[in-house]
Amino acid sequence: MFSARWRHTWIEAASGLLYPPHCAGCRKAVSGRLAGLCRDCRRGRIRLDGPRCTVCGQPYGGAVSGTFRCMNCGDRELAFEFATAAYRSRGVVRDLIHRFKYHRKLHLRHLLARMLCEGFRDGRIKADPPDAMVPVPLHPARQREREFNQAEVLAALAGARLGLPVIDGLRRTRYTLTQTHFHREERFGNLEGAFVARHGAVAGRRLALVDDVLTTGSTADACARELREAGASAVVVITVARG
Ligand SMILES: [Zn+2]
Ligand SMILES: [Zn+2]
Repeated sequence: MFSARWRHTWIEAASGLLYPPHCAGCRKAVSGRLAGLCRDCRRGRIRLDGPRCTVCGQPYGGAVSGTFRCMNCGDRELAFEFATAAYRSRGVVRDLIHRFKYHRKLHLRHLLARMLCEGFRDGRIKADPPDAMVPVPLHPARQREREFNQAEVLAALAGARLGLPVIDGLRRTRYTLTQTHFHREERFGNLEGAFVARHGAVAGRRLALVDDVLTTGSTADACARELREAGASAVVVITVARG
C-alpha cells in the first residue's frame, strides 16, 4: 500500500506532467510549482517609482524637485486626493489585465490582486491608511455580459490579504460609452449622474476606490465625487496599473 503522503506527491507529479507550470505572462514553461511570472516578465513590468504627478500618478520623463502636478491635473478640481499604482499599463502588465478582463482568464486574478496590493505600499497610504475599499462598479448590463466585475474580484482578494473590508458603496445607474471615444470635456458630461453612492455604507469613512486601470481619471473622479457627496471623509484611488 502506498502511504497517503506518497500518493499525494504522485498525484501532484502526474498533474504537473499534464499541466506543467507556465509563466502567466509569456506562457513559457517555468520550474517550480507557483503560478506566476517568469524572471523576464517580472523584470519587464514597468514600475511607477520615478517622478510622477502627485495627483494622478502620470509618470514624468524629466527630473522633478518637490511636488509635481501634470498638465492634465493642473486646472482640474478632482474629488479624490490622489491616484496611485505600482505598475504602468504597458507590455506584460497590460496583456495580463486584458486577458483577465476581456478573455475571462480568471486564474490571473491572484497575480493581479498581488500587484494591486503593491499599490498600497505608497507612503501616503501607509501614513494615512483607508478604512475600507470600494470597487468601481460596472453597469448591471455590462456585468451580465462580462459575467464578473474585475474591480470587485480584485478588491475582494486584496482586501483579504490586507485585512481591509470591501464595501459595496457605489452603484452604476447609467450605461456609459467607453470613455476613450470622448474628448476631455465630453468625458465628464458622459459620466454625470452615472454613479450613486450608498450613504449609510460610506459616510465618515476614508475610502480606497479600487479599479484595474486608471486612464484619464474621469471615472475615478466621478465615483469619488459621489462618495464625497454621500459623506466619505476622503477618497484615494488605487489601481493595478496606470494607463
Ligand atoms: Zn514570462
Ligand atoms: Zn496628473
